[in-house]
Amino acid sequence: MEPFAELRPGIRRLVAPNPSMMTGPGTNTYLFGDEAVAVLDPGPWIDSHIERIQEVADAPIRWILATHTHPDHSPGVVALAEATGAEVLGMPAPDAEHQDRTFRPDRILCDGDELGSSEFVLEAVHTPGHASNHLCYRHADANWLFTGDHVIDGSTVVINPPDGNMSQYIASLERVKELQCAALVPGHGELIADPDRVIDWIIDHRLEREAKVAAALAANPGLTSLELVPYVYRDVDKKLYGWAERSLLAHLLKLEDDGVASCGDGRWVAR
Ligand SMILES: [Zn+2]
Repeated sequence: MEPFAELRPGIRRLVAPNPSMMTGPGTNTYLFGDEAVAVLDPGPWIDSHIERIQEVADAPIRWILATHTHPDHSPGVVALAEATGAEVLGMPAPDAEHQDRTFRPDRILCDGDELGSSEFVLEAVHTPGHASNHLCYRHADANWLFTGDHVIDGSTVVINPPDGNMSQYIASLERVKELQCAALVPGHGELIADPDRVIDWIIDHRLEREAKVAAALAANPGLTSLELVPYVYRDVDKKLYGWAERSLLAHLLKLEDDGVASCGDGRWVAR
């Protein structure tokens, strides 16, 4: 993946130097506007990346936005705001694990709020599921949706309860599909030019997994979420059981929401 790309006039992408199993090639930072710049997701606090953002902007940075407050997306906000005096926008961090509490927006955004300049309009779309405070941003002229970790290129995202919520995640995917955007522009990986196909694939994949969880639960009543892992994720390395358990629990909680599973003392049964 190219470390820098101009995706169309007035929309640029810089990849932060934090590649890993969870972040793919690294976190995508986006810049909007040529004369007064908005920066989306400056990523982790990496000095060289914060400097690079300012070089590439080559104009005053007036606004800094975050899609959500996981450690690979927002800790760079404080450093960039200090260096530029820009206004910080987004939703505050929830009281949950793996959250960047240094993120303190000057302006709290809600669903439907807009940030407008003479060069662009960005509309906030609240998409809870991966994180309860997750916002996507629709670029009005391009009709592109900047999706953070709601939809990423080439793989599925972690839904880690309780802040991550599978019922909300599926509902937020349906919501994005209804927007009929021309492209999805993710927080990791390349632009997605066929939103419907990719969203349908993600929903199908999640529902297939849910069906497996429901079947495993029916065949093995009274197990904990961790004990159910090998019945659902047959091919997963034991080292990854911890993460697999988080995903499995997200599915179980959705089945509970749907009235087809219940839990007592951490042990699950089908209803
Ligand atoms: Zn995330």
